[in-house]
Amino acid sequence: MNWKRYTRRDTCPVCNGERHDCRQNLETNLIHCRSLEANPLDYIYRGQDTWGFNLWAYKPDADEWVSDRREEWERERELKKQQRERQNQESLNSLLPIQERDQVIRSILDQLTLSDRHREILKNRGFTDTQIDAAGYRSVKQWQKLDNPVSNRLSGVKWDGNSLINHTNGILIPVPNEDGLYTHLRVNDLTPDTSHKYYPLSSAKRGVKYHLASGEQPIAVYLPDKPPEKQIIGFTEGLEYKPLLASSNVGIPIIGASGGNFANSRRAIEAAIATIKAKYGWDDQTQYILYADAGSIINSNVALQYQKLGEIIPNLKVA
Ligand SMILES: [Zn+2]
Repeated sequence: MNWKRYTRRDTCPVCNGERHDCRQNLETNLIHCRSLEANPLDYIYRGQDTWGFNLWAYKPDADEWVSDRREEWERERELKKQQRERQNQESLNSLLPIQERDQVIRSILDQLTLSDRHREILKNRGFTDTQIDAAGYRSVKQWQKLDNPVSNRLSGVKWDGNSLINHTNGILIPVPNEDGLYTHLRVNDLTPDTSHKYYPLSSAKRGVKYHLASGEQPIAVYLPDKPPEKQIIGFTEGLEYKPLLASSNVGIPIIGASGGNFANSRRAIEAAIATIKAKYGWDDQTQYILYADAGSIINSNVALQYQKLGEIIPNLKVA
């Protein structure tokens, strides 16, 4: 058969380039497109091919407009959409509750130690030994083996429970929420030219996400050792060292989000703020300050994320 493949430059007219596997059969002129979102006005739905691609005929080419085919397509599209949403919700519902994630993470930390070299690196970043020990940092080797198997329901644990899914050596960072419970594990890859300095351990490939049950990205929450003197909740970009250092340096609770991606954790942030305010008995006079990185305002993508945090917290100030 004679096929035309659509490319990024010569995009599929049905989905306008949403998919990259679309093609046209040059004998039938039918376009085979897998998009479930497409609803092109100039094309008529002609059913599916044996590979599950939807078939579309160019309307002016077609003999007649068969409207019930379009209705059939729209029904199918709606059905598939509902199916996907249900599957997504089911996989979120089956995620381990935070309390249990915390227990599994602690039993992983109990089996690992922190190397002297990594301790030195952390001290150079400004941490004290006490902070390093309290934070639960550990050294990991690529695909870190565990002596005692743990539950594979924690994202980032291999299916057999015998090792972690970390593709590099590095420092293992357990990320706490506002209750001091660990929600997930991250790794600081110390390879100089790495493209991902920090990454979450994830078993998403076998359907076990590290996300919260709401579907949101987890956040990091660090509270100071002593009750804060000022009624301020701070924000930093990143879930790792930055929020913890800021919390101990400024002496206030700090919420950190991945890559400044606050908008993807809206409900988690609102819940954390409520818990922090209740814990310290704070009222509406609470101030919210974003501790922006140097240069981040220049980086327009980060600036956009900060703008989005401002939408969640209207009286946000920037330090
Ligand atoms: Zn297409």
